[in-house]
Amino acid sequence: MESTTFVLFGATGDLAKRKIYPALYNLFVDQKLPEAFRVFGLGRRELSDEAFQTSVEQSLRKFSRREVKDPVLLNKFLQTFRYSVLDVSHKEDYQKLLQLVEQQEEELRMAPNRMFYLSVGPEFFETIAASIQESGLGSASGWKRLVIEKPFGHDLQSARELNNNLSKSFTEDEIFRIDHYLGKPMVQKLEMLQQSNPVLQALWDNRYIANVQITANEIVGVEERAGYYDHVGAVRDMFQNHMLQLLMMLTIHLPNNSTSENVRFKKKLVMEALELLQKEDIGSHVVRGQYGAGTIQSKPVFGYTSEPNIPADSSNDTFIAVKLQIDDYSWRGVPFYIRTGKRMKDKSTRIVIEFKEPLKQSKANDDTKKPNLLVIEISPNEVISLQLNTRNPQNKGEFKPMHIDFHESGDNVPEAYENLISDALHGDSTFFAHWDEVELSWQWVQPILDAYEENRVPLHLYAAGSNGPTESDELLAQDGYHWWFDE
Ligand code: NAD
Repeated sequence: MESTTFVLFGATGDLAKRKIYPALYNLFVDQKLPEAFRVFGLGRRELSDEAFQTSVEQSLRKFSRREVKDPVLLNKFLQTFRYSVLDVSHKEDYQKLLQLVEQQEEELRMAPNRMFYLSVGPEFFETIAASIQESGLGSASGWKRLVIEKPFGHDLQSARELNNNLSKSFTEDEIFRIDHYLGKPMVQKLEMLQQSNPVLQALWDNRYIANVQITANEIVGVEERAGYYDHVGAVRDMFQNHMLQLLMMLTIHLPNNSTSENVRFKKKLVMEALELLQKEDIGSHVVRGQYGAGTIQSKPVFGYTSEPNIPADSSNDTFIAVKLQIDDYSWRGVPFYIRTGKRMKDKSTRIVIEFKEPLKQSKANDDTKKPNLLVIEISPNEVISLQLNTRNPQNKGEFKPMHIDFHESGDNVPEAYENLISDALHGDSTFFAHWDEVELSWQWVQPILDAYEENRVPLHLYAAGSNGPTESDELLAQDGYHWWFDE
């Protein structure tokens, strides 16, 4: 792999400690980092290289999926880390950084390939991108890449402004937008699942699929993110990005030997075919919820508006359920139900594909027969499960569901951030969000944001520890379906 300087803005922040350092360490142990690899951690406060390396070590001991055992290996890893003071708005700090980076590239005879990872608040993205360009950090003869974390904008307009500004310094090919759901191993397998299995490929459309349910439920509440979360809610925090990405990854039809371009082009087609919700449809297609007090795992918990730093009159959404339709040849007529919420009964991210029942009504005792289901559990466990019907001839012909479960992987699988950082280092953008997808997602979500803003969608309270507002059940019941696995 080509030599790389990894420039990390926000090196003292939470994301760096919990995800980025552990990911880099595990890639290092797996020998997936370039031979010549250096990290420049940047932050506002003064810190020696040694103190920085110690804090990196602490985060590995706390958050790495692999135990840190071998001191020689650890030391070799830590030696790749340098620290430099940089305030994002101080132009002179970028000049100093440029000198340090160039000096190191020269000393170690590294090609000037530079990856800029912005693990800082989105309000800094534009300033940093512009300063990288102005300072000369971004104009070396090697490649440059910009890695940014969501949120990419707060609505359609701000997302467009952000993108316009970033594109003054980086081309689309150089921007790697992380949606960490795309780094999850099971999500990365979705595109291959139907493509490489003729048995699924043959059934993967509106002739055989009755409906699709995508759920991402959390048990936790707003935690320490009150200031951020109360301004975004479930619709921006989860739905606009992660949930729509899951929808895209599930529904694309790919040619054999597909490339990164194919994948992203097909995802764009899905978003373009997603039927826009008209103003008058939003009330019947979107359920907006907020958790009230309740019980989680036998412990009483506060409602959202009693959480620290949340205004008592907040009407922010902590739950959203939406019914969507993809208007293309394959999916026309198949309802997709997507929901995500905090303080739900179970923690689970899963996709349930419910197949049609061609034999329905064929026999009087068919009531006992369940539809075939393909369940793709993304987290916390990776499981693909098929629900089939079986019948014991001695049991008066009653049908019984039979489950075939494929547990996808054992313990200690690579984390999303490992997959994504490794891909970015290789310049592979398959599992990063292209601007077209981001823009189309905001475009699709904007009428919902407007309806929330104008209070045209009722806010339903649900008890913490439940499956969300009952209105979310009605969303499916009106089509004759129900959420699977809500027992
Ligand atoms: P954080 O507040 O813990 O860290 C932010 C970092 O930015 C700190 O290192 C801080 O020193 C630095 N910073 C702030 N102002 C600066 C300035 N003027 N000059 C230089 N550095 C400055 O935030 P975080 O949780 O690490 O999140 C970073 C980004 O990643 C955010 O955009 C966030 O939305 C996103 N994100 C975080 C998580 C997560 O799990 N923490 C998950 C997804 C996305």
